[in-house]
Parts: sequence; C-alpha cells; structure tokens
Amino acid sequence: MGAIDIKSAGKIYPNGTRALEDVNITINDGEFVVLVGPSGCGKTTLLRMVAGLEDITEGEISIGDKTVNDVAPKDRDIAMVFQNYALYPHMSVRQNMSYGLKIRRINKQEIDRRVNQAAEILSIEEYLDRKPRQLSGGQRQRVAMGRAIVRDPQVFLFDEPLSNLDAKLRVQMRLEIRKLQQRLKVTSIYVTHDQVEAMTLADKIVVLNGGHIEQVGSPITLYEAPQNKFVAQFIGSPKMNFFNSTDLNSSAPAAVKKKIDEKAELGIRPEHLMPCPKTSAMISAQMELVEQLGEYVLVHLKTAAGTELIAKLPELPKASEGEWMHFKAEEKFCHLFDIKTGIRRLK
Ligand code: ATP
Repeated sequence: MGAIDIKSAGKIYPNGTRALEDVNITINDGEFVVLVGPSGCGKTTLLRMVAGLEDITEGEISIGDKTVNDVAPKDRDIAMVFQNYALYPHMSVRQNMSYGLKIRRINKQEIDRRVNQAAEILSIEEYLDRKPRQLSGGQRQRVAMGRAIVRDPQVFLFDEPLSNLDAKLRVQMRLEIRKLQQRLKVTSIYVTHDQVEAMTLADKIVVLNGGHIEQVGSPITLYEAPQNKFVAQFIGSPKMNFFNSTDLNSSAPAAVKKKIDEKAELGIRPEHLMPCPKTSAMISAQMELVEQLGEYVLVHLKTAAGTELIAKLPELPKASEGEWMHFKAEEKFCHLFDIKTGIRRLK
C-alpha cells in the first residue's frame, strides 16, 4: 500500500545547486520515518520531491507500487502538513478541513462524516465554526493535521510542523502526532532539524548531511552504534565527547589504550562518564563550570592536553571549580572512530 521506495535519488536545482546525491531509503507501509540533519542538508528538498513539488532530477521514487516521478502532486495520494499551517484565513475550521474534499467532488455526507471524525480524533470539535485567527498556534496546527487526515491518504508528509510552537506545546503536540500515527498507521515522512523530535517520533531516522545520507536506522541504533563521527555528534544531547591518546590516563585499561593511537579517537557520551578514583580513571580533567539543571548536572571540564568535555551526572560532584575530576566508562559505551575518515571502527 503506502510503502515508499527512494532509489538513487538526486536533485540539481535549475541554477546548478546540487541539493541531494544518491539517496536510497526504503520506507515500509505504516512506518514513521524522520529526516533529520543540519540546515541546508536537503531535508525539505527530499520531502518536496516525494510530494511532487520539486522535480526528481536523478533516480526514482515510488509510492505503493507506482513510480511517481511523472505523477502530478494531486494524484500521488499524499497529504502534507506544513510549518506555517497554510490555512485559508477567510474560511472556518470546518471549511478549511472540507475544502480539499469538495474539490475532489466527494459528496457532502461523506465530507461531514470525515470532518467530524477527524475533529473528534484531534479534540477540535468545539472550534469547527471559528476562523483560524481565533485559534491558538497549537489549535491551528491541529486543524492543519485534520485537513491531512480527512484526505485519508496513503502517505503523510510533515515539514517541521512544530517549529512555530513554544517548547511546552511542541512536546505535547509531538506526543499527539505519535499517538495519531500509531492509531492511523499511515506511512509518514517527517522533516525536522531537532534530534530530540527525531528520537521520540521515529521508527526509523535518516540522518542527512550536505545532500547525502550519513546513516539510516532506528533511534536506538543511531544512539548506540553511530556509524561515523557526524552521526555520533548529531544524535544525543549534550554531544558525544571525543578524546585522543594524549587525553588518556596511564591508569586507563590497556585494552582501550592499545586502540587509541594517532589513527583512532575515543568517543564517550556525557551520560556515560562515571566519576571514579584517580587510580582507576581513563580520563582526568579540570572542572571549569557546573550547570545545575535540577534533574541532572552538567559539568564542563578540560583535560591537561586541552580537550574540552562535558559529564552529565545525577548530582553535584564533591569537587569544585578548578579541581581535578577522574572518570571511567564501561567498554560498551566507548566508541572508536577513525581520525581521518570519521568512520566507526570495530573494536
Ligand atoms: P533547512 O533546515 O534550513 O530548511 P533543509 O535541510 O531543508 O534546510 P533544503 O531546503 O532542502 O535544506 O536545501 C538544500 C540545499 O538546496 C541548500 O543548499 C539550499 O540552498 C538549496 N536550495 C533549496 N531550494 C533551492 C532552489 N529553489 N534553488 C536553488 N537551490 C535551492
């Protein structure tokens, strides 16, 4: 049904800008895929190519069993939810949600049925007669989603739908989108630059960088086994720390010391650094600053070799600013990367 296959897809804009190169993604029917990456990496371009709003200049995209390269957007059986809602200001909520169906000449009874059902799913029944300007941002975004739901499409495409909302509402709407997708089981592609949104929403994350794919995998795979330094730094907050051989203590386990040389560096996430006595430490560093965030503490430090790091601890350390702290980490949390290529090394 709504499976999507993106094969060797590339995009060169008419002005010669290459936005994407050799992108391959298989999306199963009902799967929630999040495209994530820094600004300009090509996320929106790829989404718009699936939607039919941008030409596919290289490769092939299929939805269901049908290649859609030459299929008009309206015939692709997709519904898109945008960041700016794109609601018609002069129409009521009900009219906004009905409009696309009217154009498709669906009968009035069926339109009413679908609009009422979507309004119920989204808890916006009481706003059906209001105009968009009489709604809050979160309510408007729900209407925009309602308009997509009533279409009953094979695929939902979301383009940063939550970025106009405040932080608290974003968290709430994130949950709602996830629940909605689990209920409707419609294949979805969701674009965001927010890695937390990607981690919490996705069945599968695609990390894009400079127009190419860095890694495709489940959130936990990307967190536990990033294939390269870019993904390691992009997924997880605060970012993974990186150390080279000059940062390691003489008391670091021989097995670790042996692997960290001029060719490989060591990555450890802030939450995996554990304070320990100097005699058993892998890393020693001088405390520079402490951020007390209530549920956890971020300690900023610097090694004698000048490498900066962050440790995420459950409580305030006994040491104070200017003093030395010592850390170890379990071997399964020690990631190795090739210094030249950034590619993950097997241990
Ligand atoms: P953001 O998170 O900032 O929205 P993005 O990952 O969605 O970024 P795109 O908007 O897909 O990135 O842009 C990818 C690249 O293509 C960028 O280098 C951008 O400048 C370029 N680009 C986008 N639209 C056009 C266009 N119409 N013509 C030429 N180049 C474009």
